[in-house]
Amino acid sequence: MPELPEVETVCRYLREHISGEEIKKATVNRYELRKGTRIPYNFISRIEGQVIDTVKRRGKYILIHLQGKDVIVGHLGMTGRLLVQESTQAIDKHSHVILDFISGKKLVFSDPRRFGLILLVEESEVKELPFFKDMGIEPLGEEFSGEYLKEKLNKTRIPIKTALLDQSIVAGLGNIYVCEALFICGISPLRPAKEISISQARILVSTIKELLQRAISAGGTTFRDYRGSDGKKGAYISQLLVYGREGERCEECNWKKVCEGIKKISLNGRATYYCPRKQV
Ligand SMILES: [Zn+2]
Repeated sequence: MPELPEVETVCRYLREHISGEEIKKATVNRYELRKGTRIPYNFISRIEGQVIDTVKRRGKYILIHLQGKDVIVGHLGMTGRLLVQESTQAIDKHSHVILDFISGKKLVFSDPRRFGLILLVEESEVKELPFFKDMGIEPLGEEFSGEYLKEKLNKTRIPIKTALLDQSIVAGLGNIYVCEALFICGISPLRPAKEISISQARILVSTIKELLQRAISAGGTTFRDYRGSDGKKGAYISQLLVYGREGERCEECNWKKVCEGIKKISLNGRATYYCPRKQV
């Protein structure tokens, strides 16, 4: 599943390639995408002739702002992709929405498993959408600080990893980055959130920001069939320290030759990797 850095990579790519483009023609091959959501009936008539203003991100959602104050809200789900193509390129058979621009470029939304979504709302309605209502702050924003995190963690006894994945505390932090950050900080994913000290909270926050920034620079992590919007594979996966490395010795333990290896457990249904020796 694409995580925040992948989505940010897609947003930056789209901002660069479709800002200022005028929509000549819109095609919807399938209106039902993620269960319970639907592309509005008037999608085509509302957006044809409109010009793309800019592309923003909120959590893992992609917001394509149109100059007419409408916003196309997109989510990539598990297998979704938003590709900018030249007019001569073949269209993937799972393409649900295609926007043809006057310039000849196309924006294609394809999603074989259809967990993604495409909506169209007015700019003023964006924050009223159900998934934005209780969404926490952005992890890359200034508001996300050690003090903020500590205050939130004080209120709960759930494990620190579960708290970091709670979207109402901080938005868009995914499983991979949380596993990696806890490893770097030497904190067990099972530690009760309340026990995290202010200095640990500060280090966690700065580690998370650094990891996300580094992953964005590398173009995201890339899992299975997900590719960035330009079709290039993300390079970050090769840099993962614990995620997906069950049984291997982590770097530190390997150097000291002292542990039985990285453990994989399930925590709230999510695969969780950690080194029981380094992380306490
Ligand atoms: Zn280790």
